[in-house]
Amino acid sequence: MNGTVSMLRPTGGNPATRPELTDELRRAVEERAAAAREQLAAAVAEFGGEGEVTFANSFGAEDMVLTELILRLGLPIEIFTLDTGRLPAETYDLMATVEKHFEARLKIYFPDTAAVEEYVRSEGINAFYESIDLRKRCCQIRKVEPLRRALAGKKAWITGLRAAQSTTRVGLPLREADETHGLVKLNPLSDWSEQEVWGFIRIHDVPYSALHDQFYPSIGCAPCTRAIAVGEDVRAGRWWWEDPTLKECGLHVKS
Ligand code: SF4
Repeated sequence: MNGTVSMLRPTGGNPATRPELTDELRRAVEERAAAAREQLAAAVAEFGGEGEVTFANSFGAEDMVLTELILRLGLPIEIFTLDTGRLPAETYDLMATVEKHFEARLKIYFPDTAAVEEYVRSEGINAFYESIDLRKRCCQIRKVEPLRRALAGKKAWITGLRAAQSTTRVGLPLREADETHGLVKLNPLSDWSEQEVWGFIRIHDVPYSALHDQFYPSIGCAPCTRAIAVGEDVRAGRWWWEDPTLKECGLHVKS
């Protein structure tokens, strides 16, 4: 992966600069967590349990907060993840840690083998660097199509998106209609700050990706994610060669 450690900006994802657990932060975190628990329980009451409500877990810090909330509450919400085949080793390590820590089995979706083979044979193993079109086609095959299968037949899906994560997520609501997939999308952490996310992780001793200790506040596929530098946006390390107002992978399309 890329990144120059000496130039890196401190973030809540950096152990040296994570927030101090002041009484004020503890109170703020517990208020946020109580609201999120209520929203998750309400989703089960409204839509039904496992098979109806599902949580898309990509193992970033926010998703680890939701994993803790869902599994500690024992809510019947399915947890799934997309294994693109290009994830960093640290994400696989965290998947194994989560299964052990929570004594739970994750539902993992893989891309269609024939589609990946055809793309790689015709365009090359790292073709996503060559053009936005080729990058989007790779995301389509490795993420968007498996997501469509994961959401098929569900009534609601839960994400760990936060409004403050990037310019493409400003104004993110707690609840929205996902017309692309024909279901309701719930973003219980929409209004959480980065400090509150890390405060929750510290208070509840939640496992998290080792990459967060290496200046990766946002983690995706290994070849398309790098550490961030001084003054950069939290998601600046994702598809860093593209226009920041356009870079989403297609999983979170605005209706
Ligand atoms: S993030 Fe990169 S490697 Fe992963 S699916 Fe998208 S283009 Fe492919």
